Amino acid sequence: MTVYSHSKLASFEQCRYKYKLKYIDKVPSPVEKSIEAHLGTCVHDSLEWLYTEVQKGNLPTLDDVLEKYVLTWQEGWVENILIVKTNVTAEDYKTKGVQFLIDYYIKHQPFKDGTISMEEKVWVDLARDYPHKLIGYIDRLVHNKETGEYEIHDYKTANSLPSQEKFDKDRQLALYSIAIKEKYGKDKPVLLTWHYLNHNKQIFSKRTNEQLDELKKEIMELIETVEHAKIFPTQKTILCNWCEYKTYCKAFGNKLPEKYREQQMKLFKDEIKEEYPSASKYIKSE
Ligand code: SF4
Repeated sequence: MTVYSHSKLASFEQCRYKYKLKYIDKVPSPVEKSIEAHLGTCVHDSLEWLYTEVQKGNLPTLDDVLEKYVLTWQEGWVENILIVKTNVTAEDYKTKGVQFLIDYYIKHQPFKDGTISMEEKVWVDLARDYPHKLIGYIDRLVHNKETGEYEIHDYKTANSLPSQEKFDKDRQLALYSIAIKEKYGKDKPVLLTWHYLNHNKQIFSKRTNEQLDELKKEIMELIETVEHAKIFPTQKTILCNWCEYKTYCKAFGNKLPEKYREQQMKLFKDEIKEEYPSASKYIKSE
């Protein structure tokens, strides 16, 4: 049994070599995180804290939320943070987060929209007795009493705003809605919603049960491809600039540090011995 997540599967689709380093060889990345990831985490944590306080019966002021954000920024700061863009400073990113939270606070106060949970862990059941599991975390789950809908909320801090067509095909929240329907009833309406904080915009989408059944099949096919993958080529794209393994990546003329190459080789030999026992005699043991 293997546990998958949306980001794990997306990593396989983006670049198999990166997937192998991260999930199979478990090579620690030389870069702890990117500034974009840090910004995302700090904004998510601040909003999670805000809604937790509201659930407790408190209403934090905007100042309280910003104080929480700045504290989280400082506590999570690491010296080797990756900043790809040359014309933007860390301080610029931090200020962006302040702006996101101000806009969000003004637009959504007093935050009484029927929030059930924050960062809820969900297991997506793809099929009866299916051997692999799919895990996810919902930023915020709401039960809207007026519409009767369960709303899956996701916060995005990226600059770009995709088209509605992309949202209507998005897999991540659609997968989470399978878990929500499992929990609350397949007939229950579920609304998918993304908060694009950089644009102060909320996007909506829905799926039919038939579309969700199709998605399950699609994901199971993808998992089968991952499970049977034997080759893990590099795949150079613009996203390589944000890849935490770029300084180890052969596509850029870099090498893995010796200890990880030895570890990779050992895993490779063990795999051959397991799959082709008769070939063992041709492989030199350590
Ligand atoms: S830098 Fe690019 S090609 Fe290399 S591992 Fe990362 S995503 Fe793959």
